[in-house]
Amino acid sequence: MRIIIKDALVVPMTTQDDHFLGSISIENGKIVALNKEKPNFKADKVIDGSSFIALPGLINAHTHASMVLFRNYKDSVADLQSWLDAIWPLEDLLVEKDIYLASLLAITEMIKSGTTCFADFYFMQNETAKAAAKAKIKVNLGLTLFGDAKESEKRIKEQLPQLKKWQVNSKGLIKYDIAPHSVYTCTTETLKIAKEVAQKENCKVHIHVSETVDEVERSYKNFNKSPVAYLNDLGILVKDKAYIAHAVHLDDNDITIIKENKIPVVHNPSSNSKLGCGIAPIAHYKDSLISIALGTDGAASNNNLDLFNEMRLAAMLSGALTKNPMALSPFEILQMATINGAKALGRDNECGTLEVGKDADIILIDTQAIHLTPLNNIYSALVYATKSSDVDTVLCKGEILLENKILKTIDFDKLKRQFLATWEDIKMRQKTEGFK
Ligand SMILES: [Zn+2]
Repeated sequence: MRIIIKDALVVPMTTQDDHFLGSISIENGKIVALNKEKPNFKADKVIDGSSFIALPGLINAHTHASMVLFRNYKDSVADLQSWLDAIWPLEDLLVEKDIYLASLLAITEMIKSGTTCFADFYFMQNETAKAAAKAKIKVNLGLTLFGDAKESEKRIKEQLPQLKKWQVNSKGLIKYDIAPHSVYTCTTETLKIAKEVAQKENCKVHIHVSETVDEVERSYKNFNKSPVAYLNDLGILVKDKAYIAHAVHLDDNDITIIKENKIPVVHNPSSNSKLGCGIAPIAHYKDSLISIALGTDGAASNNNLDLFNEMRLAAMLSGALTKNPMALSPFEILQMATINGAKALGRDNECGTLEVGKDADIILIDTQAIHLTPLNNIYSALVYATKSSDVDTVLCKGEILLENKILKTIDFDKLKRQFLATWEDIKMRQKTEGFK
């Protein structure tokens, strides 16, 4: 299908000065022209962009989609470990249908808030792949590893063939990574296996790193080095082969390793704040030439999957932490949620900016709301004032996923009924387990 978005305020996110009133022409899922003047393009569908900002689709570079099941659930606890202790027994009860419905609900929330690509890791990723394929959204699915080598080899044997199939058959929507959960939940052998899979399959390692002070202290106790130094010594932190979530507590040596190995850091300000983990000093990382992407983490620790919230919070916390409102500009914050996310996920040649030849992953933001009046500086408007409810239209690979705020690939009313029934069923399973 040939689509044209006309008369929009186009914000390609290539350079700060590059924004213009004009049109975007789309053919076979790709951007074929960006025009300031009237384009010579015969379209099957014309979208009037005259009240919209056109922006690259946002990229959520770290989440656990299925954890929407645990949204607002037992989340007022003392620390990360107490919260994990509340969640893990329920996770043991999950079945494939739970993961599928939860993934689809999470994807619905992401589409409605302008996300066109996300990086995920959790259990039964085949179900999350099914949900992404149904919704027609992009995802990097992490084959998730916990525990020892025996457990990891079993998971890889079960899941890798499925994920490979999705990568081949989904026309670029679905890719896979290998995702050892963290240094405190995986044995050294499991981490080595993850490295081998990344090398052999040419995929990336996606891992939680230095999320809490406790994690760093335990790493020193067990390995006599920081999590970053430990992973580096294992050969996991290799350029283009890894991206790390959180990185709240890095020392100077860690920062040098990450900078020299060009490892992207995924900042999750809501989750880190909510769980009391601390504030990652991202302006300092940026000054150290580290690329920073943005993630929501799972809805259990956020409690939503809204990157507009995340951008605003990242900007606010950075100002508060550095006492310097200029430490990160709104344009740089927006880069974190677009092109930097694409780089982390190895997708920057296909998305993250609006450029001819890239996929048409585009969102249209309604600028008519009170809180966007007057618009003035576009980047300030997008980072500080825009709400996810201003997202009107979402395209991924030229496919319309949302139009006039109406979902096109998902029946939300039906999904909500099924999802809530499943959640009740999970809680019932827990009660039954308790009587055994
Ligand atoms: Zn996480």
